[in-house]
Amino acid sequence: MSRLIVVSNRVGPIGDAARAGGLAVALVEALKSSGGIWFGWTGDVIEEADTRLKLESAGPLTLATIDLSADDFDAYYNGFANRSLWPLFHFRTGLVQYDRDNFAGYSRVNAAFAKALLPLVQQDDLIWVHDYHFLLFAEELRKLGCTRPIGHFLHIPFPPRELLTTLPNHEELVKALFAFDILGFQTEHDRDRFFDYVRMEVGGSILGDKARCFNRTVTARAFPIGIDAGTFANFASTDDGQKQFASMRDMLRGRRQIIGVDRLDYTKGLPERFNAFERMLEDHEEHRGEVSLLQVAPPSRTDVSEYQDLRLELEGMAGHINGRFAEFNWTPIRYLNRSFARQALAGLYRASHVGLVTPLRDGMNLVAKEYVAAQDPEDPGVLVLSRFAGAAKQLTDAVIVNPYDVQGMADAMNVALTMPLDERKDRYTKLMKVISEEDIGHWRTSYLEALSSVEHAGVTGGSL
Ligand code: ADP
Repeated sequence: MSRLIVVSNRVGPIGDAARAGGLAVALVEALKSSGGIWFGWTGDVIEEADTRLKLESAGPLTLATIDLSADDFDAYYNGFANRSLWPLFHFRTGLVQYDRDNFAGYSRVNAAFAKALLPLVQQDDLIWVHDYHFLLFAEELRKLGCTRPIGHFLHIPFPPRELLTTLPNHEELVKALFAFDILGFQTEHDRDRFFDYVRMEVGGSILGDKARCFNRTVTARAFPIGIDAGTFANFASTDDGQKQFASMRDMLRGRRQIIGVDRLDYTKGLPERFNAFERMLEDHEEHRGEVSLLQVAPPSRTDVSEYQDLRLELEGMAGHINGRFAEFNWTPIRYLNRSFARQALAGLYRASHVGLVTPLRDGMNLVAKEYVAAQDPEDPGVLVLSRFAGAAKQLTDAVIVNPYDVQGMADAMNVALTMPLDERKDRYTKLMKVISEEDIGHWRTSYLEALSSVEHAGVTGGSL
């Protein structure tokens, strides 16, 4: 069995089940079974550039990390990754800031990380690179002579070619993707948008799941990421989960609750969601004083001004809606800017009658899957899901909404709140089947099977 090297911006956490997300757990599992290295950023920003590796061994796996200088962090992470690629890949061209210096920083970090990893690469290794931070990584490794199979998985959407071409260096980025052997996308729609770009923009050809261009061939497929469904269902019955469930139901005193759990990010459609909740209260007097919205939204990327603006906007909206509808013994919106241990989160999901997951655009959205997995099979809640989340392609038995349609979302909340038990159970059973079959283990093994079956031609840059 080949040894595995995982490359991602953040490394870990490992061995901390309360904090580790499904992805971290899945990657650690993969690394444990084949032995291997998890390589990326330490999470520390230092004044001067210093690309010395920090090695830490944790059983059969090694964590290999490097620091980022303040300038590189600003240009690579806050700049090109989060001000250019993140909004563009989420179809938000209006928010994209492009700056040549930021792209230079992004290239510099990709090159420096590739150079730091190279001495650790052995003859039978497979290299699995994650997400939009490292689109140039394979190109850089190939330049240094690495001929091992290298795969990429994009956790976020891939944009339509008309949007991608607004980025001044779009061709350079896509060309660099052809230095990978396998490109993994969340959905076939994302993969097809990549194919469309290759065909229409740079004159490449597509044959089955292979794209050929720039004298190289890359295999591109959808591998929808899943969650650890069984563990999540069990979390709801751990001490922490039960405690959270009991205290939430106690506090609700027979009233009902809609829950939203998202990083505080403009892709998640939070203002639209608050508007829709307000509309639902306007339309349905019977839900006033009876249904509340719990929105959990821990801040992220606080250095980027759009994220600061969003926080202020949501605080204003929650204040306005509460001022308008609250009663002395009922608060319509409870808005919490903090994170929870995963067990506790499972308890909150289970105590909530509706899960509201309404991003404007999302690669997959794991919260949608977690909400369903945490439900009580005998009395499950209802998932209301945006058609623009990758998860909507699999979870067709959710109540599907258009997050831009405030009235449609308000109506959907009412449908969910009044859904009979039989229909709730029926939808839950169908959703759970997909979520358990296409879980995180399935994602990992199908990706790694594809990567290990790459017959690498041993020439610089992708197989010919
Ligand atoms: P994204 O990757 O864009 O943040 P996802 O929904 O795909 O969106 O994944 C978010 C992950 O972060 C989920 O596993 C979710 O449980 C976790 N998460 C989100 N908010 C919180 C919170 N307040 N506390 C703990 N975990 C959270």
